[in-house]
Amino acid sequence: MNKHMPAEPVPFIDIGAQRRRLGKSIDEAVSRVLAHCQFINGPEVAQLEAALTDFSGAKHVVSCASGTDALLMVLMAKDVGRGDAVLCPSFTFCATGEAVALTGATPVFVDVDEATFNIDAASLKRGIATAKGLGLKPRAVIPVDLFGQSADHDAIGAVAEAEGMFVLDDAAQAFGASYKGRRLGAFGLATATSFFPAKPLGCFGDGGAIFTDDAELAATLRSVRVHGQGSDKYDNVRLGLTGRLDTMQAAILIEKLKIFEDEIAERNKVAERYAQGLGNVVTVPQVAGGATSVWAQYTIRLPLGCDRDSFAAALKAQGIPTAIYYPKSMHQQTAYRDFPVADGGLPASERLSRDVISLPMHAYLEESAQERIIKAVRGAFST
Ligand SMILES: *Cc1c(COP(=O)(O)O)cnc(C)c1O
Repeated sequence: MNKHMPAEPVPFIDIGAQRRRLGKSIDEAVSRVLAHCQFINGPEVAQLEAALTDFSGAKHVVSCASGTDALLMVLMAKDVGRGDAVLCPSFTFCATGEAVALTGATPVFVDVDEATFNIDAASLKRGIATAKGLGLKPRAVIPVDLFGQSADHDAIGAVAEAEGMFVLDDAAQAFGASYKGRRLGAFGLATATSFFPAKPLGCFGDGGAIFTDDAELAATLRSVRVHGQGSDKYDNVRLGLTGRLDTMQAAILIEKLKIFEDEIAERNKVAERYAQGLGNVVTVPQVAGGATSVWAQYTIRLPLGCDRDSFAAALKAQGIPTAIYYPKSMHQQTAYRDFPVADGGLPASERLSRDVISLPMHAYLEESAQERIIKAVRGAFST
C-alpha cells in the first residue's frame, strides 16, 4: 500500500470493465452491422426480440427507442388522453409521469413505501379517489420497480383490477428482477424497460423494450412504433412515433444479454457485502418477501440529523462518488407541481428525497474497492 498517494477514485458505475470482459464479441457484432448496412430493422432487431422473449417469458417483445418511448407507446396504443388519470409514484425518475402528461392525461402522484421505495397500495387507493373527485377517469397505474427491486405486483394488480384499470409496469431500472418466481415482463398489461447505458442491461446509446402477453396490443405497438402505419404503407391509421431501436444497439444488446444473469448474481453479491458492512450505521435497502432486485442503485438512508451534503463531500474527498436519486420527488418539480397528488399528501416520498443517497454499484465492483467505500461510510459516522 502506498501511504502517500490518494487511492484511485472508484467509478460510480463501470461500463469500461464490462466492455473489457466482452472484448471482441461487441466489436464483431458492430462490424457485422457495418457490413450488412441494415441500420434500421436489421436482422439483429428480431433476434434481440426473440432473445428477450426467452429471457423474460413474456409472449411478445416490442423493442423501441428508449424507456420513455416504451411507456408512451403503451399509453398511446391504449388511447389514454385528456380526461384520463394515470396513477404513478412521485418518488421516481421523471419519465414515468412525463409519459402520462405527454398524452394529455393527468398524472396523479401517489406515495411510496419507505422500506422498499416502491408504490404504496394504500396511497394508490387514495389517489384513485382523488382522481375521481376531480372528475377524471382512472385508466391505469404505473408501478415502478425502483432501484431494481420488483414492486408488490399482487397488491397493485388487485387494486387496479377492482377499478377496471390496466397496469403498465415501469421496469426501466429492474429488467431481470422477479416477483414470486416470475421475471418482470409478466405483470400487468405491459411492462416497459430501458436500455440506457447506466441501467442494469444497457446498450451503447438509447434503447428500450415493451413486454406483453396481449397479441393485439403488441400489433398496435408495432404500428405506433412506425408513425402509426397500417397495412397500406401510405395510409397511416393512427398517430405514432419514430420509436424504433437501432440495429446497432440491438446487436450490442444480444451480446450483453448473454452475460446478464451472471452480472445480476454479481450485483447481488455486492449488495450483500454492503448490507453486512453498513447495516448497523445507515438504513440499508430492504428487499421485500417474494421480490428480487437487480440493484440498479444501492440507495441508503442517512440517520436523522446527518447532513447529506457534508456526507457526500467526505466520501468525495476519499475518491468515492455518490449520487442522489431523487433529490426532488416528481410532485416537487417545476413541471409537475400543478398535477394532483393522492389525498393525505406524499410524506414518505418527501422524506426519502431528503435523506437518500446512492453508493457505487455495478457487477464489477471489486471487494477491495468496496471495502474502501464501506470504511469511508463508517468513518463519516465515527466522529
Ligand atoms: C431511465 C428510466 C426511464 C426512462 O428510460 P429512458 O431510456 O432514459 O427513456 C423511465 N422510468 C424510470 C423509472 C427510469 O429509471
